[in-house]
Amino acid sequence: MPAPTQSRGHFRLTRYFSGVSLGLMALVGVALTYFAQTLTLHELKFMAERRNEAMTAVFLNVLWPDFAPLVASSSSADAAALRRQAEQVGLHAKTAALMRNSEIIKVKLYNLQGLTVYSSDPKQIGEDKRTNPGFVSASQGLPQSELTHRNSFDAFEGQRTELDVISSYLPVRDKGKVLGVIELYQDVTGFVLRREQLLMRMGTTSLAAMLALYGLQLLLVQRAQRILQAQEADLQAANRDLDQRVHSRTEELSLAKARLEHLAHHDPLTGLPNRLLFKDHLRRKLSQAQRSQTQLALLFIDLDRFKEVNDSLGHLVGDALLVCVADRLLAVLRGGDLLARLGGDEFVCVLSCEDANLDAPQVAQKLLDTVVQAMQLQGHEIQLSASVGISIFPGDGLSVDELAGAADAAMYEAKRAGRNRFHFYRPEMTQSAQARAHMERLLRRSLAAGEMQLYFQMKLEPESSAPDDGRRRLRPSGAEALARWHNAELGQVPPGRFIALAEESGFINELGAWVLRQACLQMSAWAKQGLRVPHISVNLSVRQLERSDIVEVVRQALLEADLPAAALELEITESVIMNADNALPALAALHQLGVRLSVDDFGTGYSSLAYLKLLPIQTLKIDRSFVTGIGEQLSDESIIQAVIGLARSLGLSTVAEGVETEAQLDFLLAQGCDQVQGFLFSRPLPAEAFTAEWMKLQDTEASKA
Ligand code: C2E
Ligand code: MG
Ligand code: MG
Repeated sequence: MPAPTQSRGHFRLTRYFSGVSLGLMALVGVALTYFAQTLTLHELKFMAERRNEAMTAVFLNVLWPDFAPLVASSSSADAAALRRQAEQVGLHAKTAALMRNSEIIKVKLYNLQGLTVYSSDPKQIGEDKRTNPGFVSASQGLPQSELTHRNSFDAFEGQRTELDVISSYLPVRDKGKVLGVIELYQDVTGFVLRREQLLMRMGTTSLAAMLALYGLQLLLVQRAQRILQAQEADLQAANRDLDQRVHSRTEELSLAKARLEHLAHHDPLTGLPNRLLFKDHLRRKLSQAQRSQTQLALLFIDLDRFKEVNDSLGHLVGDALLVCVADRLLAVLRGGDLLARLGGDEFVCVLSCEDANLDAPQVAQKLLDTVVQAMQLQGHEIQLSASVGISIFPGDGLSVDELAGAADAAMYEAKRAGRNRFHFYRPEMTQSAQARAHMERLLRRSLAAGEMQLYFQMKLEPESSAPDDGRRRLRPSGAEALARWHNAELGQVPPGRFIALAEESGFINELGAWVLRQACLQMSAWAKQGLRVPHISVNLSVRQLERSDIVEVVRQALLEADLPAAALELEITESVIMNADNALPALAALHQLGVRLSVDDFGTGYSSLAYLKLLPIQTLKIDRSFVTGIGEQLSDESIIQAVIGLARSLGLSTVAEGVETEAQLDFLLAQGCDQVQGFLFSRPLPAEAFTAEWMKLQDTEASKA
C-alpha cells in the first residue's frame, strides 16, 4: 500500500498568518508613525509660523519707526554703526519688552541685501545672510520656517540649553512691497514635548489596538486551522480506508485469479492436475529428456468396471472411490513423477527414469497392487482392478500426442487381455485401436441408423410319440434371437466382433434392451399370426446382468409386448455367471419374475457342481465345441454324456448347439439330449424367412398327424 504523500508537508495556517500579519502590521505601523510624525510636525510648524507672523505684526507695529531706518541702511553699513544706531533708540529694551511675555526668544532684521541690520543678540548684527535659503525665500515674499533642536541658544534673556526652536523668515512689506526680512525665533520645546507625548500615546494605543486585533485574528485563524486539520485528518482517514479497500480488493482479485488458475489446471474432485496441466508437464519433460538424452515412461491407468460401481452404487460412492484411488496411486509415486486425472476413471502418470523398460513395469505393478486392495467406502466394501498401458520416450513416440496415443492403445490391450494387468505398447496396437475406436463410433449410431436386425434360429425337439417307421422325428420347439449388424462401411459385422466391443464400451446395455424388446415384440407378432412358438431365447451380457435395473428392463419388454414371462428364456454364458459380481441375486430376481434361465456355452466355464446347484436355472446349453468333436474326439463325447447326465440329475433340460451333421444328431438323441439347434436344421434367419421355415416344418408335422 503506498504511503500518503508527505512531501509537501502541512500548510501551517497559524504560522503563515502570524508571519504575514506581523509583517503587514509592522509595515502599517511604520507608515502610520511616519504619517503621524509628518502631520504633527507640519501642524506644529504651521501653528508656530502663524504665531511668528502674528508676533511679526506686533513687532512691526510697535517698532517700525525704529526698524525702518535700519532696513533702509545700505549694505555697506558696518556692524558697529548699526549696533550704535539700535542702542541709540533703545531697541534692545523695546524688543526685550515685547518678547518677555511671549515664546519669542530672538528677533533679527535683514535688509534686502541680506545684511543683518538688527538682532536681539547684538553679536550677530552685521552678518551677511544673503545666501541663506530662508532669507532668499522670504525676500521673494514667501515665508519659510525651520524647526531645529539646539543644545545651547543665545536667547535675549541669556544662554539657554536643550530647546526646540522654530525660526521663521518673514517678509516685511509696505503696501505689498517687500522692504526687508524679519526672522523670529520661537521656543517650541513645550509643543514638541506635547507632540512627542501625543505621538507616544497614539503609538501605544494603535499598537495595543493592533495587537488586540492580531490576537483576535490569531484565535480565529487557530480555530480555522483546527477545523482544517480535522478535515484533513478526516480526508486522510477516508484515503486510508479507500487504500485499504483497494488493497483488499486487489488481494481478493489475485486470490480469485490464483483459484481460477488452479481450477483451470486441476481436477476439482481429486485435486490432481488435469489434462491441460498433464500435457504442459509432459511437453516440458519431453524437451528436458531430449536435451539430456534420458528416457521417459507414460502410464495410462484405467479402472476396470468403474462404470458399474458408479451405476449401481451411485455417484457419491463413485466419487469417493476415485479420490481413494488417486490417493493410493499418489502414495506409490515418487516426488518427481506426475499423476494426473484425464477424466472419468482415467489417470495418467509421467515417470522420469533411468531405464524405462526396467522401472515402468515395477511402478505399474505397484499401482495395480494398490488399486486391487479392498476399499471401504460409505458402508460398501469395494474391490476394483485397473489396467495399465505403458509407452516409452523416445521409442514409442516423440510428441505428447504420440506417447499418449500409444499408452492408451497399450492400456486397451491390457483390458482385452483380461484386465488387472499392464501392457507395453507395440506398434501394431495403434492400428487396431484406431480401427476399434472407429467401429465403436459406428456401433453407437447403429440402432438409431436402423442397422441392427434380429435373426432367429430354430430349436427343435424329438417328438415324444414313438415313430412308426423307426425314424426319429423332430418338431420346432423354440427360437434363439441373434443380433445382426449391417453397416454400409463395414458390411456385415459378426456378433463375435461387435458384442465384445459393445460390452467394453458400455453400449451393450442399450443394445441388449433393444434386443429384448424386439424379441418379445416378435413373439407377440407370431402369436397374432397364429404361429405358436413356445419360447424365445435372448442372450444376456454380463454387463446387463451386473446392472441393478436388469429386472426392470426385462419386465418392461414383456409388458410392452404383452408376453407372459414363461415365454422368455435368457441365455447367460457360464463364464459370465462365474465372474459377475452380483449374478446370483440378479438371477434370483429374474427367476422370481418367471422367465426361464439357460446357461449358454456350458462346459467351457468350469463351473463347479456345487455352484450349479445354487443357480435358479432350467437349461444347460452344451457348447458347440463339444458337439463338433462328436465322432472325432472321444473326450468330447464323454463330456456330452456327463453334461446330459448331470442335467438329468439336477432336473435341468439340455440343448445342444451347433449341430451340423446327422451323426452328431444321432449321438445327441441317443444320449437323451432334449433339444437341438444347428445349421443341420436351420441357420439363423430374418423373421419372415424364419416364419416360413417354421410353418413348413409344422405343416409336415400336421400332415403326418
Ligand atoms: P451363442 O449364444 O452361443 O449363439 C449361437 C451361435 O452359434 C450363433 O452365432 C449361431 O449362429 C451359431 N450357430 C448355431 N448353429 C450353428 C452351427 O450348426 N454351426 C456353427 N458353426 N455355428 C452355429 P452368432 O449369431 O454369430 O452369435 C455368436 C455369439 O454372439 C452368440 O453365441 C452370443 O453369445 C452372441 N450374441 C449374438 N446375439 C447376441 C445378442 O443379442 N446379445 C448378446 N448378449 N449376445 C449375442
Ligand atoms: Mg446363445
Ligand atoms: Mg452358445
